[in-house]
Parts: sequence; structure tokens; C-alpha cells
Amino acid sequence: MPESKETYDAVIIGAGPVGLLLAVCLARWGYKIKNVDNREIPTLTGRADGIQPRSLHLLRNMGLKRQIMAHEPAKVYEVAFWDPLPGGKGIHRTGNWASCPKFIDARYPFTTLLHQGLIERVFINDLHKNGADVQRPWTITGFNNDGHDEHYPVEVTLKHVQTNERETVRTKYLFSGEGARSFIRDQLGVKIRHKDPISHVWGVMDGIVRTDFPDVKTKCTIHSDHGSIMIIPRENDMVRLYIQIASSTDKDFNPRKRATLEEVQASAKMILQPYYIDWDRVEWYSVYPIGQGIAEKYTIDHRVFLGGDCCHTHSPKAGQGMNTAFHDALNLAWKIHLVEGGFAKRSILHTYETERKSIAEDLLNFDAKYAALFSRRKPSAGEVGAANESKEAGEVNEFVEVFKSSAEFTSGYGIAYGPNQFNWSPDHSAQSHLFNPKGNALRTGRIMPPANVTRVVDANKVQLEQEIPLNGSFRIFLFAGVPSTTQRAVADFAANLEKQSSFYSSFQRKDIAAVSYHERHNPHSRFFTICTTFAAPRAQLEIAKLLPPILARYSDHVYADDVWDPRFPDAKAAAHAKMGLDVGMGGVVVVRPDGHVACVISLVEGGGTVDALNEYFGAFVAKKIGKSKMQAHL
Ligand SMILES: Cc1cc2nc3c(=O)[nH]c(=O)nc-3n(C[C@H](O)[C@H](O)[C@H](O)COP(=O)(O)OP(=O)(O)OC[C@H]3O[C@@H](n4cnc5c(N)ncnc54)[C@H](O)[C@@H]3O)c2cc1C
Repeated sequence: MPESKETYDAVIIGAGPVGLLLAVCLARWGYKIKNVDNREIPTLTGRADGIQPRSLHLLRNMGLKRQIMAHEPAKVYEVAFWDPLPGGKGIHRTGNWASCPKFIDARYPFTTLLHQGLIERVFINDLHKNGADVQRPWTITGFNNDGHDEHYPVEVTLKHVQTNERETVRTKYLFSGEGARSFIRDQLGVKIRHKDPISHVWGVMDGIVRTDFPDVKTKCTIHSDHGSIMIIPRENDMVRLYIQIASSTDKDFNPRKRATLEEVQASAKMILQPYYIDWDRVEWYSVYPIGQGIAEKYTIDHRVFLGGDCCHTHSPKAGQGMNTAFHDALNLAWKIHLVEGGFAKRSILHTYETERKSIAEDLLNFDAKYAALFSRRKPSAGEVGAANESKEAGEVNEFVEVFKSSAEFTSGYGIAYGPNQFNWSPDHSAQSHLFNPKGNALRTGRIMPPANVTRVVDANKVQLEQEIPLNGSFRIFLFAGVPSTTQRAVADFAANLEKQSSFYSSFQRKDIAAVSYHERHNPHSRFFTICTTFAAPRAQLEIAKLLPPILARYSDHVYADDVWDPRFPDAKAAAHAKMGLDVGMGGVVVVRPDGHVACVISLVEGGGTVDALNEYFGAFVAKKIGKSKMQAHL
């Protein structure tokens, strides 16, 4: 008889940002995971540190922002650009730019700076709350998708790094979050394509400094006659300095080139002249060689997946590594949840690679442009002095221009997934004429914009897009317009949701009879949460009178669109206006579990709206839906 082995829903190798976020999501949603890391202890200092605006928004949605902020991170609102002064007189500030400019509709328009270890600890604490942990110091020695067990097709062998104790387990999914050097990626034979052949060696130093340099508490990029440097403020009054030590464009380039701490400090002193800088303490110093690369595949068999630095590496300057890792993990987590929860066809897992690889390609293109400008020899003081109209002076502006034009992308709000079964487009198999109503301002594949509304039950002003926590469910936002006008359409919408064959009823919870009275988000189904927003003042809204029981059950998710928004100063219902939905008609916005807009549908009298939703979900759910006319009672 074959030996019985411990089984898992997912075995995750690596407990850096990508592995931990995947582990947290799956553990929260009830999956059995094993997360191993070959280091004895979590990251103590240094490494990645920048949480971009969209990532902080995500962490808030996971209920983790407060724990991050408890570490009192630095917040960067501005970037200052410094360049050489004419006549060799040192450097001067040539401009400032918002790190997340106003044209980006962000809840948190700043970068949060905190070292990777503190961020990892927030995730590890969350794992503990859900009965999981990181197994250290363990590593992987082999794996095989042998299919011997149809439910747990992948066998994984693990080993304790010090004692050599061994363990063999079976799993539904194996994930490599091993960082840039990945055993799993190598075993799969997945190649890294080097997009930009140029590689760099960076010196990175975190410490407490004394200086009269005025911008030490904001992010700065500094070009001088003595080299270039980047300054980033950190938690606990620390400052990070990045200095490029070598570049493969140098005549004498050596990727193993090192610089001592003292050499880097001496360079920093030269670059910052006429200002002084001295160190009270250095917390972390590392020399960090990095080339640009992207994995050719993120999976081969849709059982063994790769993510994070294992799939993409690039310079640290734009602070994207950890953020991209977060979104890789999130993208895979909810798709695994939909498949393993019995909701979606296994084929949806293909979209992990297509969606995330295209974002990594965009990131590397941006990074190559930015890094080239950062590394290019800057004009000498004499050249700049003579050069108001010269080409070199133009180069300095080009750097600022690239920074500005890329702000949306680097903030995380520019992430746009292309059309596929989740992100509706005219090529989608769902063809109802109710999709994409005229005037709607939303773009499928992009984040739903933030909107402030009043929660009807308690009169709290709340952030609509944050009201549904990251629970793996699709978020159905019913913008119900003016109640007197849309009453019939809302009633028909509810009646059609209740039909036994509707997308909604087809995925009813098995334990529906036992669901707690206090369940706010998933009273009927683990895959949907519904929010209803009326274009009316809160005082005029009485839930029991306005909403049929299926919608009234979500009483904590009924809102009044009566909060003034500076972006829509003349709108009576700013959230409707922001979405581009007519208050006389309303509309339905379906948002994916990760907050990206899936589709927008007109709200109409009769069955059309739910029929369109049946068509939309019918494109990827694991059951046939939308055919029977029988009624169900939820
Ligand atoms: C030395 C260093 C310095 C860095 N400095 C910066 C910086 O200054 N700024 C910046 O933005 N980014 C920096 N980065 C990159 C940044 O840390 C990553 O972009 C980010 O952490 C990506 O997260 P990840 O989870 O994909 O990988 P990682 O954070 O690298 O996590 C991978 C984890 O997997 C573990 N692991 C690896 N292989 C195995 C294995 N076979 N078995 C078990 N466990 C394994 C590792 O110990 C690690 O804990 C640095 C990376 C390194 C390695």
C-alpha cells in the first residue's frame, strides 16, 4: 500500500513578500497551506522598503494598514530633483514633484517607507491568527507533478537546512516565492529573458545621519559632478542612500565590483557638497547587483507557479519589487480560491500569467528608461553652466519628464489588465447590449476609483471601495440611482437574482441555513458580496421599505450617495458621477475580488440586468447557469 503523506492545498516556498501574501490570503480563506523558508529568522533589516499608494490601499482592504502604520513609517509625498551647479559649486535643487500627483485618484497619495522585515512580520502575525506559520529553516529538494493522487497531484520533498531531516508531502499547488534565485524555476527549465542587457551594482545604506542637506526627509534623486545618489527617508529617523557603484556600460565593468561602507560614505559626502553629511549609526549596508530579467513562463502546468522576484528583477530605484510581488500573490490567490471553491473552471488559472507578465513587461520597460537616465553621465558643471539651450540640459529635464509620466504606473493605480474572461470588452462571450452603458467612466481591468458615501444603518461616512474586505468574493455594486425612479428595476434585479438558475443562486452557500445573523459580507454565497448605493440623502432611505429581502439582507452594505466630492463639486450624487452612472437609471458595477473593474451593466426593468450577469459569469463558472426559470428562496 502506498505510504500516506500529509496533504496541502498549497505548498509555498519562500516567506518574502510574495510567499507571505499568498499564504495569508489562502489561510484566511480556509485553505491548508505549508509555507517554508530556508532562513532561520525573518528579514531583520534593509532590503525593499517602499509601499506604494495602491499597495497601502490593498493592505487597508486586508485590515493590515493599522499594523503597518504602528511602526511609524516615513511617508514620502514629494520627490526633489538636484543637479550640478555651474562652476563646480556643488549641487542645487532644480525641481520638486508630488510622488503621487493629484491627477491620480488615490486614497493615500504617498509612499510608505518601512523595511521589508517589519512588513513581513505583519503578515506572519496574521498567519498565526489563522493557525498557520512559516516553517524554518527548511528548503525544497524536489517536486513532481506526477498526478498519482488526482486531488493532490504534486509531490514535494523538503529538507531541514541544518539537520537534513526530510519530509515528503502532496499538494494541489506548489508556489515559488523564492526570490531571484529559484530552485523551482531552474528545475522547470524556465528561462529568464534579460530585457535590458545592462546590469548595475548598487550600494544601499540605511542609517541615522546628521546633515544640513535640506531635503533629507523627502525622496531625492541627486546628480552631481561626482556621481549620482538617491535619498529615501525611513522609519525611526533613518535615511536610505542608494549609490550606483558600477554599471555594465562602464569600460572596466565587473559585476562583482564591491565598495566598502567607508567608500560609499566618502562618495556620498562628495556628491552632497556643499552640504555636509555624517553618520551616527549605520543599520544596514549591502551591495546589491541587479540585472533586468523576466521569466519566460510563470507556470507550465498550472499546478506549479512562480511569482515575485522569481519572475522579474529590475533596479530598486522606483520601489516596485515588493509591490509587484504583492499583486502577483493577490492575483493568483483569488483565482486559486475560485477554482478550489468549485466556482470557476480550472482554465481561469491561465490568466495569472497573462495578466501579471504583461505588468512585469511594463515595469521593466519603465525601469530600463528610468535606470538609463539615472546612470547616464550627467553634464559636468562647466557644461551645465554654458548650456541653457544645450542638449545635456535637455537630458536633465527628460529625467523629470519620465518620472512624471510614470507616476500613475508606479503608484500602482496605472495597472490595467487587458480584456479576457474577467475583464469585459466587446470581444467577451457575454454580448448583452446592456454592457458598458453610455457615459460610464469605468475601464474594465483597472481599479475601481475611490468614492465616499454614507452608510445608512449608522450614518458613518465610509470609503465605498473599502467596505468589502478582501474576502475572495466578487463585489457587486448596485448603483441604484434615485429610489423613486429605479424602484421597479431594483425589484426586478432582486427577483431575478433569486431565480434558482441565476449566477447568484447557483453558488449559494451549502451552510446557508446555519449562517450567522451577524454575517455581513457573505450571507448567501462565499463568492459574492452586494452593496447598494442610492442617489439620495441618507435621511430619506429606509432599507426595509426600499429593498427586497435578498438585498436588504446586506443592511450593512446599503449607502447614501450624499457626500460632497471635490473632484465632482457640482454633483448631487458624487459616487454615481464618478462612475459615470446616470442617477435616473443607476447601473451595476462588478468588481473582481482584487478590486479591478470586471464589467459595468445598465440597471433596467425586467430580467435584462441579471441575464447579462448570467452571461458574464457563465463565461468562466464551473456550472451551467442562467437557463432554468424555477424560483429559489434564499
Ligand atoms: C540582498 C537584497 C537586497 C535588496 N535590496 C533591495 C532594495 O534596497 N530595494 C528594493 O526595492 N528591493 C530590494 N531587494 C529586492 C526586494 O527585496 C524584492 O523585490 C522583494 O522582496 C520581492 O519579494 P519576493 O517575495 O519575491 O522575494 P524575496 O523577498 O527575495 O523573498 C524570497 C524568500 O524566499 C526564501 N528562499 C529562497 N530560496 C528558497 C528555497 N529554495 N527554499 C526556501 N526558501 C527560499 C528567501 O530566504 C526569502 O525569504 C533586495 C533583495 C535582496 C536579495
